[in-house]
Amino acid sequence: MVTGSTSGIGLAIAKSFAKDGANVVLNGFGNPEDIERTRSGIESEFGVKAVYSPADLTKPDEIGGLIALSVETFGSIDILVNNAGIQYVSPIEDFPVEKWDQIIALNLCSAFHTLRAAVPHMKANGWGRVINTASAHSMVASPYKSAYVAAKHGVVGLTKTAALELATHGITVNCISPGYVWTPLVESQIPDTMKARGLTKEQVIEEVLLKAQPTKEFVTIDQVAALALFLCTDSASQITGANIAMDGGWTAQ
Ligand code: NAD
Repeated sequence: MVTGSTSGIGLAIAKSFAKDGANVVLNGFGNPEDIERTRSGIESEFGVKAVYSPADLTKPDEIGGLIALSVETFGSIDILVNNAGIQYVSPIEDFPVEKWDQIIALNLCSAFHTLRAAVPHMKANGWGRVINTASAHSMVASPYKSAYVAAKHGVVGLTKTAALELATHGITVNCISPGYVWTPLVESQIPDTMKARGLTKEQVIEEVLLKAQPTKEFVTIDQVAALALFLCTDSASQITGANIAMDGGWTAQ
């Protein structure tokens, strides 16, 4: 199950798992026809079963149903990728309270709710993999991203705690922390950053986004997906409670 998999990083992870033979549960928002095309395309291209849930992960009531869909359809939930996330850019004093609540609900609380529903099934199987898409912003901050940075730091704490609780059950829990990946999430925050800092689009890309990234290149969605896939292999069974950076050297500074 990959939350927020109708777009960007989540979709790339879902496709790479399907390519490797996994049945997948897709989740996220978008145009229903596009989502159905994506779902059926995964089935026909990779020969696996793919189901879709429109659950809004800011609503805890809908998260139980998402995990139930996986268990009812596939008999279990083996791999949980908490990936759905949103961003909002604003100085703290102007930060809309409802945006703060929404970001904390989606980027942090939803991972707790999916975990608490999925863990009993993973424990029963004696195997499980939980991967949380955190961010370089789980390690360092940037101005104007208070809710996002707070939520991503929180996800790391949740990851470490769950890893300790589940260590003897064959279940690993890790974070992947990408730097800037070129996805709709990054593209859509450019106008707000232009406004907040009084910059042009080119200046935001070069002076804000890639300024932090020493390689001066965006991370690709396929690189993040490859790391997620690796974390599900037996070779990665001793990696747990880790927050793995993939950020072109950003957090080395
Ligand atoms: P994206 O906007 O392309 O995808 C976000 C996904 O989350 C979409 O499928 C969207 O429909 C879904 N979503 C949004 N609100 C939802 C809700 N309430 N309930 C369920 N699904 C919802 O973004 P992305 O860049 O692929 O981001 C994916 C994750 O990676 C996020 O957690 C983000 O914080 C993290 N991340 C992204 C970058 C980056 O540079 N793009 C860097 C570090 C971390």
